[in-house]
Amino acid sequence: MNYIVLDLEWNQADDLKTKLENELLFEIIEIGAVKLNSDKEQIDSFHELIKPQVFDRMNQVTGEIVHINIKELENCRSFKEVAEDFIRWCGEDYIFCTWGNLDLPELQKNMDFYNMTHLSEKPFAYYDVQKLFSIAYEDKKKRRTLQYAVEFLNLKEEVPFHRADADAVYTAEILKKIAEKEDVFKNYSFDTYHLPKSKVEEINVVFDDYAKYISREFSSKVLAMNDKDVVSTRCFLCNEKTRKRIPWFSNNGKSYYSVMVCPKHGNIKGKIRMKKSPDDKIYVVKTMKQINVEAVDDIIDKRNQIREGRKERRHRT
Ligand SMILES: [Zn+2]
Repeated sequence: MNYIVLDLEWNQADDLKTKLENELLFEIIEIGAVKLNSDKEQIDSFHELIKPQVFDRMNQVTGEIVHINIKELENCRSFKEVAEDFIRWCGEDYIFCTWGNLDLPELQKNMDFYNMTHLSEKPFAYYDVQKLFSIAYEDKKKRRTLQYAVEFLNLKEEVPFHRADADAVYTAEILKKIAEKEDVFKNYSFDTYHLPKSKVEEINVVFDDYAKYISREFSSKVLAMNDKDVVSTRCFLCNEKTRKRIPWFSNNGKSYYSVMVCPKHGNIKGKIRMKKSPDDKIYVVKTMKQINVEAVDDIIDKRNQIREGRKERRHRT
């Protein structure tokens, strides 16, 4: 399997009127990519600027960051032509790698705008290199800039950042460094531009210390919370039934928490996040992980605070 390390630059409306008039919010004007083989050695690269069809002026802020003059793009090919070549160039057996989680949704939005064939009809795995960097060298949670990571790893900084070809090369160099820690590559992400359409397409994956579930769409939160797979509290490690120590509760209706006890694996924290799908429905991302006694106490505190808050509000009215 090859690794396609991808970076895009996009332009946006320079004023509110243009923004409201256009269906496309971010128009891709540059595609840069590096192809690595299964040993993470570079075997090819792709780079092309794109002639814009939607915005004919450069957004001021974008122009300053990216350093592309709209005149430079006049004689370039259109997005559709470049993107079709790019997808062909990717080949058959590959996984995308991007810095952060924004590039793949924007690529797909632009492809949809020109009615191109979908990259995928359902969620697909990719590597978020920004997340891998945090797992490999930091606390798994922090998200750093590309430049921070390049400096942290003492990589050569020969060309300016914020151009698609340069940023793809930098991201690939970081990926190669992370490859020294093979275990980190277990932590792939999922692009959810197209959500699971049925139960069989739902995502259920177990990582080293946590599990992730991505549901199909529901028309309401209530329906989601009535689904037995969404609220299931079976242990993600042994699939056995657990004892519910703290049943699902929510503070704001966006996140739900629960603590269960597996006879073999101890305390497990469940977290359900309600997410809005592109067509304004609801889907659920649920994570489960083993936790220690202090973390259980934190969740009990959180639940008690919510209860107190409710009581106070009732007294006031
Ligand atoms: Zn278990």
